[in-house]
Amino acid sequence: MLASSQQSMAAAACARRPASQAEATKTSKAADLAAEVERLKAENEALRAALAGYQQCGPAEVSLEAPAAAAAGEVGAEGAAAAAAGAPAKPALPLAQQLEQGIQWPSPDEGSFWERPPRAAPLPLAPPPGAAGAAQRDPRSVQVVHITAEMAPHAKVGGLGDVVTGLAKACLARGHNVEIMLPYYECLPNDAIEDLRHERDFECPKGKTWDGLFQAGSLRTQAEAYLYFSRACLEYLRQSGRQPDVLHVHEWQASAVPMLFWDAPARFAQDMPRTRVVMTIHNFDSSGECRQDEFSATGVSGELFSTIDKALDERTIGHNPERLCLLKGGIVYSNAVTTVSPNYANETLNGGAAGWLKSTLAAPGVAVKYSGVLNGIDTTFWDPQIDPFLPACYGPQQQEGKALCKRFLQMGLGMTVDPDKPLVAVISRLVPQKGIHLIEHAVHRTIEMGGQFVVLGTGHADSGLRNLAGGHFRDNPDVQMRFMYSEALAHQIYAAADMLLVPSMFEPCGLTQMIALRYGTVPVVRSTGGLADTVKDVDNYQASRAACQGNDMQPNGYVFDGIDAGSLNSALDRAIAAYKGKPEEWAALRGRIMADASRWSWDVAAGSYVDLYNKVLSI
Ligand code: ADP
Repeated sequence: MLASSQQSMAAAACARRPASQAEATKTSKAADLAAEVERLKAENEALRAALAGYQQCGPAEVSLEAPAAAAAGEVGAEGAAAAAAGAPAKPALPLAQQLEQGIQWPSPDEGSFWERPPRAAPLPLAPPPGAAGAAQRDPRSVQVVHITAEMAPHAKVGGLGDVVTGLAKACLARGHNVEIMLPYYECLPNDAIEDLRHERDFECPKGKTWDGLFQAGSLRTQAEAYLYFSRACLEYLRQSGRQPDVLHVHEWQASAVPMLFWDAPARFAQDMPRTRVVMTIHNFDSSGECRQDEFSATGVSGELFSTIDKALDERTIGHNPERLCLLKGGIVYSNAVTTVSPNYANETLNGGAAGWLKSTLAAPGVAVKYSGVLNGIDTTFWDPQIDPFLPACYGPQQQEGKALCKRFLQMGLGMTVDPDKPLVAVISRLVPQKGIHLIEHAVHRTIEMGGQFVVLGTGHADSGLRNLAGGHFRDNPDVQMRFMYSEALAHQIYAAADMLLVPSMFEPCGLTQMIALRYGTVPVVRSTGGLADTVKDVDNYQASRAACQGNDMQPNGYVFDGIDAGSLNSALDRAIAAYKGKPEEWAALRGRIMADASRWSWDVAAGSYVDLYNKVLSI
């Protein structure tokens, strides 16, 4: 457990069963989580083993400045050790050779080559994380309690889990006190969570409707709904005498928290007088529709919130019964509301990204407290200079390892081993949001242009790609698709690929393009949501720069606007042509985007959240 304290785990125990709105969703989600937990356990083991090896070996002694030999790439722990022992130094091998020597090359017959260590011993190129000194600490420590349905890696379905963990870690590093409350899912890997224990039972009201009358009762701490979970979190905080500065709630699942905090007869706000509530919406696609009688799982009648200025779903006015919208309630009652990129915030206010909730966001009291804060990535976990999943590490100044990673993947997947073929990758949930029809088109287009295409993904909209993989491209040595989830293979693909394609129909923030930039893999993206905030076209940069209001970003990828094949071609064709025709410029672009990648770290995003916390605390 990285960000939660004893108390938060005890609070997690307050809801013993996964809570979800519908039993069917709950069952499939629990099954997904259980499968993912198993996968992550295995991968965490591999990561731990590799890191242990890394700690024993230490980084390769690679100087980026002086001695001429090192600058020319003649490096090596071996030579340095000999020098330290006073022995005549053996000439060190060039970096590429050193890296190549330790690789355990895969073959297509091997099957899941990504599940075993790719090298005999790790050879990281940078000092271990943290060696450069502690992160900058903020002058004032804020006590933050996150209330969320997901937390990576133990309870993660999508980006929400990554965001909660990444933000929590970054805030801890800056000196803040962070706790995370999440439901005690049956599938949580108890043995993987340090110091997990039951802290307390407590009474928590839960209402019911009986003969048309609302009645409040209470039950012990077993629950099965996010509504009850929201109430249980507040009860736990109050009954354990806690006074957090900020409750940071996420998505519709925790939206009842601000509603209850400020307006429930139970007067939580009075008992926690200095506490303020911040809400983050990761995707407006799910808004938490809720019948009034369902809301009574909070111990409070839904009638209390059933007005236009509170949580009434305006689309249901005149229906019998009218419904509540939890996301709306969360927006109305929170002291500050964020979404996960500035451009997506703009699309929700001025486009159709928020659907009917656009009018809620535009209300005078809401517009002033709503903003977009760009997510970050965990730049320690995603670092090609130390990544233990990679057959060869590399960085902006030592790019040799990237070509070895490409060869490794081509060999393992049974593709043509050719350093000069541009390798285009997609790593994604395979759902309509992600622009599946454009991914299918891009496979054809890339092959027509002499490239290679790799897909790693899962999702219900995968049938077209499966047909291509098993039909038209079945025997094509330049196309490989894996319909599965694998953290290890994802790392190896980010490192091996020359381009990452993200043609999403909408994308609140998107993490894959930021990870790609970190790995020197040039993003080819559709200009939407956070993709438009993070990728600026190398050929059309003046126009995009004017739109990004003077930030100091450099051009870093290829961007297209439309949702048709021709629009995608307009970016993909340029990228492939540049890769093939201007190798030196391409290498410079690759180095530049890697060198610039610290801008995507959570530390930057955490700074914006800390500013926001301080702002709401001054209200
Ligand atoms: P979303 O949250 O909509 O799925 P994001 O781009 O925000 O999209 O985050 C996706 C995350 O999931 C990234 O870390 C990406 O590497 C990872 N990912 C997606 N699909 C897979 C997969 N099949 N195997 C491994 N990792 C995946």
